[in-house]
Amino acid sequence: KEEELETLQKDIENKVITRTQKIEEDFKKMENIASVDALTKVYNRFAFFKELDKLKGKKFCLIMFDIDHFKDINDTYGHDIGDFVLKELCQVVNNKLRRGDIFTRYGGEEFIIIFPNSTIQATVSIANRIRKDIENHDFKKVPKVTVSLGVIEVKANTSQEVFLKNVDIALYKAKENGRNNAVIFEEE
Ligand code: GH3
Ligand code: MG
Ligand code: MG
Repeated sequence: KEEELETLQKDIENKVITRTQKIEEDFKKMENIASVDALTKVYNRFAFFKELDKLKGKKFCLIMFDIDHFKDINDTYGHDIGDFVLKELCQVVNNKLRRGDIFTRYGGEEFIIIFPNSTIQATVSIANRIRKDIENHDFKKVPKVTVSLGVIEVKANTSQEVFLKNVDIALYKAKENGRNNAVIFEEE
């Protein structure tokens, strides 16, 4: 009787372990689905903030970029072509990135790339390579697509609110400079 009971108990324990593993796997799958932007398949805004949390207390670099005159692309060629441009542009950018870089769709036609292991000099040259690749890419249905970029070096312990505002200032300057260029944020 005692042996029978022990076998039964082991059986139940094993079942609980298997079930728990399955729940954990399903949760990971759901979390992945919830982290990816449905249109472009890059990380979404939710994932962006989750990844930022992991970098608390560390320094890193960041690029924020926005498509130039994207409203005109939609107005001229239609929303579907606009969607196509968003998808294709993400592939062009992905080709320039390495493992560990975190590429996210921050808003409609606004993107942020986090570089946890890159210097500001290297980040600026990546920004310019991305810019040129997009400028030279044949989007077929649309004659020319360009982006403006803000680049920032985030010191450990700078608050999210501050560096997001600052990189946005750099991006705004890039727009003011005539678009299709990259600007580094510098303290006044
Ligand atoms: P700027 O050079 O100053 O950035 O000009 P812009 O026209 O790109 O800026 P604006 O913010 O006026 O327009 C952004 C447009 O992006 C408006 C919005 O309809 C479009 N947009 C945002 N998300 C999507 C999307 O998922 N698909 C498509 N097709 N368009 C989108
Ligand atoms: Mg915009
Ligand atoms: Mg825009």
